[in-house]
This record gives sequence, C-alpha cells and structure tokens, in this order.
Amino acid sequence: MRPPPQARCWADIDLATLERNLRRIKAGLPQGVKYVAVVKADAYGHGIQPVVSRLMQCGADMFAVANVAEGAQIREIGSGWPILVLSPVLPGEEEALLEYELIATLSTQEEAQRFNQFAKQSGSTLPVHIKIDTGMGRAGIWHEEAFTLLETVQTFEHLRVDGLYTHFADAPNNSEFTEQQRQLFLKTTANFRHNYSARTQPLLIHADSSSSLESTGRNSPVNAVRVGLLQFGVPPSDESVLAKVKTEPVLTFSTQVGLTKKLPSGTGISYGQTYILRRESIIAVLTAGYGDGVPLASSNKAYVLINGQKCKILGRVTMDQTIVDVTKVAQVKPGQIATLIGTDGNASISLTQYADFSDSIPYESLCSITKRVQRVYKFAE
Ligand SMILES: *Cc1c(COP(=O)(O)O)cnc(C)c1O
Repeated sequence: MRPPPQARCWADIDLATLERNLRRIKAGLPQGVKYVAVVKADAYGHGIQPVVSRLMQCGADMFAVANVAEGAQIREIGSGWPILVLSPVLPGEEEALLEYELIATLSTQEEAQRFNQFAKQSGSTLPVHIKIDTGMGRAGIWHEEAFTLLETVQTFEHLRVDGLYTHFADAPNNSEFTEQQRQLFLKTTANFRHNYSARTQPLLIHADSSSSLESTGRNSPVNAVRVGLLQFGVPPSDESVLAKVKTEPVLTFSTQVGLTKKLPSGTGISYGQTYILRRESIIAVLTAGYGDGVPLASSNKAYVLINGQKCKILGRVTMDQTIVDVTKVAQVKPGQIATLIGTDGNASISLTQYADFSDSIPYESLCSITKRVQRVYKFAE
C-alpha cells in the first residue's frame, strides 16, 4: 500500500467491507427486522457522506443521528429513508425537522406540547418516536411516568407516533439488568402498542444496539435494531453477543516516518523528558500527533507498526509529531508507513487495542481522529 499524495496521516476506509458487515449483521437478524443505521458523529468518524451513500445502496432501512444538522446532511444525500434524531431537539429546531423530514425523539411533556404547537401553527404533522427511560438515565421519559405521556400524546392531533424505543445502559456486561430493561420497556408500552396494532403502518419498536442484538425474534414485538459501531467492524466488547457476527474493520489509521536518527543513551525524549533512552537507540519521528487524534494519553504506552514490527512510542506525543523506537527494526526510512490502527505483515493493532492504550473506548477513539486526517475511500474489493 502506498500513502495518498501529501498525506502525512490518513485513514483508509473500505466501503466494500462496510457493505459486507451490514449484510452479515442483517443475515443474523430475523426476517423483517428493520436495520436502523446509526451514523452520528460523522458516521463514527468514517465520513457521513460516503458511508450513508453506501448504506443506502446496500440495505439500510433507516438512519439515526444525534441532531438535526446531521439529519439534514443525510436528507441531502437521498430522500425516502426515514431519519431519527436521537438527542433532544432544542427549542427553535422544529422548523428543521419539518424541512428535512426528520423524526424527533420525544421524551417529555414539554416536548410533546412544543412539537404539537409548532406542527399546529405550521399546518403539519410531526412524526416522533417516544423514548422510554428504563434505566439509562439519559433521554427518554422515566418508565414510571411513561403511561401519562403515552396517553396525552394520543390526544395531540399534530403528532404522529411512528415508533417506541429504549436504550440499554450496560449491554452486554450486565445481561440481567439488560433483560430487566427489556421487560420494563415491553410492559410499559404494551397498552399503547395494542391500541396501535390496527394501523396500516406498524409502529417501529426498538431497543438493541451493537452490544445486544437479542430482543428480536421469538414472537418479540421488537421489529428494528439500531446498529452503530458494529457495522464498522468493531465489536463493542469481546463478550458481545454480536461478536458472534463476524465483521471486519472498515477503517485503518496510518502515518509516515518523517526521519530517523541515532541518539546516545541517556537522552531525554520529547516535551518534559518523560522518557530517557536506556541505550543508544534509533528513533523514528512520525508525522502525526494529537493534532491528528493520536491520544496524548498513549504517550509512553502505545506502539505502532513499521515493517510488521511493534515500535513503542517514546515520550510525549506532540501536536504534529510522535517519536517511536526503531532500534531493532531494520531498514526504516523516511516515507515508510507507520500503522496506528490496522495490519502490517503478521502484526496488527485493532481499534479496541488502540483505545486501550489510552484507557479510552473504540467509540471515543474514532471520534477523536481529527479533520486534518485525510479519509481515503475504497469503493470495491
Ligand atoms: C449511539 C447509539 C446507538 C448505537 O450504538 P452502537 O453501540 O454504536 O451500536 C443506538 N442507540 C442510541 C440511542 C445511541 O445513542
């Protein structure tokens, strides 16, 4: 593989792999279950435009994003796909819901009134999914108060309930609590679901994300899943049920060797001299730093791959440059590729491992790859 021209630090994004992952996840779900592709935060750092275009072509039924701005971006790519906004819609954003045909998440009486009022004034109907908080403590109506909200909403003529959902707080680490949340969700919504069962367009009932695709099937009323991380080929955790669905990483993260040099034993490396060479060493200066997303917290902890060999980061990661030890790696020259996330020869660094280096999680690591990092797309095998 050759670096793209002028790229000092770049991410290769393989859309054919993304497509394969989606097909495999779908194949593991019962027939008829809708696939809601979660593409918030610039499609987990992979780039919303190319990712969404590909997912539209290969079988996503719906999209979910964090906010109306992200929803608008998707709407510009294609019409026809429902788009759900997961985070609270702020006062003043209702107009954008209408303009870009977005579905809001409804969590409070205040929102119900605000949305209904807006829709009435603009002579429209706003579609919503009502979210039930069954133990996440974030968005959603607390389950004990849900009944009242579900009742009121039915009297609001300008709201149309298209779905009901909840979100698991600790899947799959705590399967017992997850099951409690699932049952609470189904119990809380039972009446409402029954009242709506005669509709031509069925309610979308969803709870699962990448770590828990278990609520569907076996006569479960759950008829959709929201998949984010897993479609990018990253299992949320090793124990994940979904780790059983074999997916492959879509993204690799690379930089180049800027220069190499020999330094005497006792030399301090980088700001603060947090690493002192214990022997005469050859170091390589890489053309990436925290300005590209290489975590400062991985200083003196992480390694990169050069010529298929692990090379430890020495001293502090700086904004644009990172120093690694290449004493034992033969033939390291400027312009060579250093792999931060990905495979080189027989060695590889998974995103999970990369996140572990800095006590982070794969989600945050992906979001931390900055704008300066060129995304290079591969469309076919
Ligand atoms: C981010 C998010 C998801 C997707 O989670 P993954 O673990 O990436 O699959 C699903 N639902 C909600 C409400 C979310 O915020």
